[in-house]
Amino acid sequence: MNRRVVVVGGGIAGLTALYRIRQQSPETETILLEASPRLGGKILTTTFLGRPIDEAADMFISRVPWGLDLCEELGVEGFLISPSTSSAYVLINGELRKLPEALLLGVPTKMLPLLRSRIVSPLGVLRAGLDRIRPDDWPGDDESVGGLIRRRMGDQIADRLVDPLIGSISAGDTDHLDVALAAPQLETASRRHRSLVTGLKEQARNSPENTKPLFLSFENGMSHLIHVLVKALGDADIRTNTRVTQVRNDGEGLRIVTNEATIESDVVILATPAHQAATLLSGCPSASNRLSSIEHASVALVTMGLRRSDIGHPLDGSGVLVPRTEGLLATAISWGSSKWPHWADDEHVVLRVSAGRAGDTRALALDDDALVEALLTEIGQILDVDGSLIEWRVSRWIDAFPQYAPGHDRLVSAVERDLRSELPGVFLTGAGYRGLGVPACIRQGGECAHTALDYLNSI
Ligand SMILES: Cc1cc2nc3c(=O)[nH]c(=O)nc-3n(C[C@H](O)[C@H](O)[C@H](O)COP(=O)(O)OP(=O)(O)OC[C@H]3O[C@@H](n4cnc5c(N)ncnc54)[C@H](O)[C@@H]3O)c2cc1C
Repeated sequence: MNRRVVVVGGGIAGLTALYRIRQQSPETETILLEASPRLGGKILTTTFLGRPIDEAADMFISRVPWGLDLCEELGVEGFLISPSTSSAYVLINGELRKLPEALLLGVPTKMLPLLRSRIVSPLGVLRAGLDRIRPDDWPGDDESVGGLIRRRMGDQIADRLVDPLIGSISAGDTDHLDVALAAPQLETASRRHRSLVTGLKEQARNSPENTKPLFLSFENGMSHLIHVLVKALGDADIRTNTRVTQVRNDGEGLRIVTNEATIESDVVILATPAHQAATLLSGCPSASNRLSSIEHASVALVTMGLRRSDIGHPLDGSGVLVPRTEGLLATAISWGSSKWPHWADDEHVVLRVSAGRAGDTRALALDDDALVEALLTEIGQILDVDGSLIEWRVSRWIDAFPQYAPGHDRLVSAVERDLRSELPGVFLTGAGYRGLGVPACIRQGGECAHTALDYLNSI
């Protein structure tokens, strides 16, 4: 009898896992179960102002290979596009300040451009410059991003540059994010060198030249990747509207309980968010409890369509980051149609305003109308807007961003140990574990498929 693998969750990680299993072991029977009516999870392109516009992830990074490699394998690299601008602003005391040159992951590596940017005070620049001469003060493993930046560069760099930039990737608070996971380049640089800036510069010098644009997407949106991946899956057994409620082993093998039936399987790949996996694994309390301890942040993303003539600001960049210290609901304003000109025409602009992050749920408590009104007032002042919205939509991403607290990697390893001993044959993959960007999820999906097949061959 053919062995069976069931994948739970049809986001990019689950779909990649399914794709790799079918590719590497065509004789294995596969089923993918997805709770919602559609595939793609946090990759979702829908129509706005008549154009395909992303409601969540709108690009992926090319500095790591896994996203681009998959696109090449699927034959869609020719459809990739990159943002038409990379400069950006940060809001400081209610005013827009352009990010200075020579910024690596939010860390300024040249002090003169930093001083000229007026993002931090002259004293803040001096404090940042002390990184070069301060003695080695590494406190040991499990440092947070904020911890590292505050000790080497000072609070202003942490609050006004690094937290808005790195924190925005996971809607996180960098004082509580593991630097080795949230910003591995910072961690490596600081381990190799007493001075963070020297370490970063050395890293930049030694890294192979990347001729590709740093960020990539598709003209018809990120869902294009999902469509081609699903097409490559051919006649795979994919069941949408099928919510899994429990995964257990009743002594006779693994059982996947869904809203429709109970399915037997030799292997289960859980590619759901970590908080969902915790619920499904209630029969394995140690793994479930550990997974429940991973915090998640929620975000509301409001897409706004406006008349170009109603906006005083030229929108000459990719957008503006809003540090926590500004106290606003908005955490970032992406000037979507400046970044992706095909999102609008000459008369219109599209903005994507993010609100909500770890430790700040004010925006999520508002209903859609109140949220849009509050954000429009905020951006009205920042961008000198005088006019009303032509179209808007609110995309709520609840518990969408896992927070990698210091020690997260050990926690994930412990969960995997729990599963190996208590629920062998169950594997985890996806954003909750070892990287939350789209390429990292693609990598994890592939790795998980490999581990699952090794297990299948061993039983
Ligand atoms: C607003 C936003 C913006 C982002 N921007 C970017 C970006 O620009 N670039 C980037 O690289 N990354 C970005 N990300 C992160 C990235 O999109 C996600 O981390 C990644 O897509 C997650 O993929 P996944 O497969 O792990 O999980 P998901 O996409 O969450 O997929 C999990 C799937 O499991 C399903 N599921 C859950 N519970 C069950 C159940 N009980 N039974 C069956 N199915 C279930 C869900 O319905 C879902 O389809 C962004 C994320 C968000 C929310």
